[in-house]
Amino acid sequence: MQIGAHALVFTGTFDESGIRHAIERTKRAGFDLIEIPLMDPDAFDSGLAARVLADNELAVTASLGLTEQTDLSSEDPAIVAAGERTLERCLDHVATMGGEYLCGVIYSAMRKYQAPPSAAGIAHSAAALGRLADKARARGIHLALEVVNRYETNVINTARAGLGFLDQIANDNVSLHLDTYHMNIEESDQFSPVLDAGDRLGYVHIGESHRGYLGTGTVNFDELFRALARTGYDGPVVFESFSSAVVSPELSNTLGIWRNLWNDSDDLAAHANRFIRDHLRAVETLALH
Ligand code: MN
Repeated sequence: MQIGAHALVFTGTFDESGIRHAIERTKRAGFDLIEIPLMDPDAFDSGLAARVLADNELAVTASLGLTEQTDLSSEDPAIVAAGERTLERCLDHVATMGGEYLCGVIYSAMRKYQAPPSAAGIAHSAAALGRLADKARARGIHLALEVVNRYETNVINTARAGLGFLDQIANDNVSLHLDTYHMNIEESDQFSPVLDAGDRLGYVHIGESHRGYLGTGTVNFDELFRALARTGYDGPVVFESFSSAVVSPELSNTLGIWRNLWNDSDDLAAHANRFIRDHLRAVETLALH
């Protein structure tokens, strides 16, 4: 199991100095991997990132949320095609960096919708993801669909809905990506969704209810980690936190990051690394009971 941090803990800009800073600080905080958001794939230099990752012996994953112009769940085939091109570009970046996962809101735009999804839009998204999953497999990459709350997509807001959508895609290179922040809003608890997903859970985000320091909000992390132990989850576990202290123009406004919940990225990250590893160690010993 690899423990990681989202790059936005350290930087909101992904030019050379931003990439270097995020990778070096993620390594220094004790993590195994960094998740890099590919919100602007045309501007991202994955060759440079690959060299800095190798220098720091850090693994990598990538994520993104699609936009209205690249929404795979659109009824407009031209927008769906634009989304597929964007995601294929991201797959190339992940392959260049030697990563094995592309995750996030890669099945619809990441935004508040004003209506439910249409059957045609869902069918477009499922078909496109099936094609992308095959292209990902050829590059040694898995896709994981992040279940997010109702203000960030209208397609999958619960694990159960996500599993139904996976059935529609019908491609075993696509799995579910659960996030405790979103689960805390939409699910009945932090335990059932993990058990329901079972071996179809491919990626986990660890975030607090207000997206600040772990352990200072209302997420029941004991339930979550016990469930991960119960199902034998072995995929990436990635810390996600956002503050107005570190801003990405594309991501921060979409996620509604208006408040400053921390100033010191290094302290936040080191604390999260300890918090996650301590919880994982504790539930590991449940096997002795
Ligand atoms: Mn997340």
